[in-house]
Amino acid sequence: MTGGALVWYNSRMGKNGSGRSGAKAVRLVKGREKSVLRRHPWIFSGAVDAARSDAAESGEVVAVESSGGALLGWGAFSPASQIRVRMLSFDPQAFPDEAFVAGRVRDSIDRRSAMLAGGRTDAVRIVNAESDGLPGVVADFYAGHVVCQFTSAGAEARKAEIARAIFGSCPGCRSVSERADVDVRRKEGLGCREGLSVLEGEEPPPLVEIHEGGVRILVDVRKGHKTGFYLDQREAREAAGAFAKGREVLNCFCYTGGFGLHAAACGAKHVTQVDVSADALAIARRNAELNFGGGFADMMEFAEADVFKYLRTCRDAGRKFDMIVLDPPKFAETKSQVMKAARGYKDINLLAMKLLAPGGILATFSCSGAITPELFDKILAEAAEDARRDFQIAARTRQAEDHPVALSFPEGLYLKGVFLRAL
Ligand code: SAH
Repeated sequence: MTGGALVWYNSRMGKNGSGRSGAKAVRLVKGREKSVLRRHPWIFSGAVDAARSDAAESGEVVAVESSGGALLGWGAFSPASQIRVRMLSFDPQAFPDEAFVAGRVRDSIDRRSAMLAGGRTDAVRIVNAESDGLPGVVADFYAGHVVCQFTSAGAEARKAEIARAIFGSCPGCRSVSERADVDVRRKEGLGCREGLSVLEGEEPPPLVEIHEGGVRILVDVRKGHKTGFYLDQREAREAAGAFAKGREVLNCFCYTGGFGLHAAACGAKHVTQVDVSADALAIARRNAELNFGGGFADMMEFAEADVFKYLRTCRDAGRKFDMIVLDPPKFAETKSQVMKAARGYKDINLLAMKLLAPGGILATFSCSGAITPELFDKILAEAAEDARRDFQIAARTRQAEDHPVALSFPEGLYLKGVFLRAL
C-alpha cells in the first residue's frame, strides 16, 4: 500500500465522532504500547482504553493508536475475545487491504517454494498464522488440496480473499477448503461446523494420498484431526525412522500410524500401533497396506486402547520394547492446567521408561505450548529418577520447518521432542 492509506486515515482524524468515514480507532492504555512496539501481534482487552476507543465489528480492521494518539499500525478487531485486536500491519503506511493480505499469502507460500518443489514431501503447511503475519490463518497443502482453519475474527472476515489468494498463488493447487470445527473458534465468538466447505476449486477426494520421506499416507481432510494430519511432526517422524532399524517399536498415540510407518519403512523388526480412536486406526491399517501390501500383519499390529492403561498392561505382563514413541494430545490447553498436565506427562513417560530394553529409545513429545522446553526436560528427568534409569539425550526435535516461529511471537513454539537413549 502506498501513502494513500495514511492520507485516508489522517483525513478522519477528528476522533470518536460517529458517522465519519474510514477506519475506527482503538486507543491503548498508557504504558501498554510496549508489546505492539516490539511487534507482538496480540493486544489483550486490558490494554485497550475502551472509553477512548471506537466500537468496531467482529473482524473489522481498526487503527491502533498509542495512548497519546500516534498511529502504531492496523489490526483486526475481535469483540468476543480476550485478544481484542490482532495486528496485521505494524506500518502506519501499509493499510491491510486485499492486496496487502494477498501479498502476505504469496510471501508465505514463496518461503516454502523449495519445500513444495523439493520432492521430499507433497504435504506442507503453507500458512502458519501469526508467525507468517496472518493471525488465525492456518493453511495445509495436501497433494494439491489446501485445507484452512480460520481461528480469529479477522481471519474469518477475510477468508474468501485468503482462499482466492492461495488458489491463485500456490503452485499445483486444485482446491482450497475450510474446516470450521476447531474449538478455539468459540473464544472468538465464531460458530463451529462439522465437515469441509470448498471455497475454491474442486471437491477433494474422501481420502487424499500424500507422501513423506518415501512413506505414503492417506489423509481424511473432512473428519481427520486438525486439517487432517499432523504435519508438525514430519521431521520427528523421519528422525524416529533413523533410530528404528531392527527394533521392536511401540508407537503410542499413533493416530493414522505415521511414526510406526516410518519405523517399519526403515527396517524396524515389529511395530505396535496404539490409539484410542477407531477411525484413526482404520486409516492406519489402510496406510500399512498401502505401504507394505497385504502381508503387513507380520510386521505391524494395531491396538485400540487408552495408552495410560495399555502401558500398565504391558508393565504387568513384563513386556519390553527397543523403541517407544509417546506423542500424546495437548494435555495443557492453558497455563492454569500446567501442573495437571505435568503429572500426565510424567506418568506416561515413567511407565514407558520402565518398558524400555537396555539401549532402547524413548521418543517423547509435548505439543502443549504452556509446557516450556525446560519444564518438559525437568519432567523427563523426574520420571527417569523415579524409574531408576539413566538416559542420554540422543536428539531433540521441534515443530517442522514449515511451522516457523516469529521471533517476536514466542507463543508460536508449542511442539518439542526429546529422543532419550536408555543406558
Ligand atoms: N503421532 C501422530 C499424532 C498423534 S495425535 C502422528 O504422527 O500423526 C494424538 C493421538 O492421540 C490422537 O490420534 C488421539 O486419538 C490419541 N489419543 C488421545 N488420547 C488418547 C489416549 N488416552 N489413549 C490413546 N490414544 C489417545
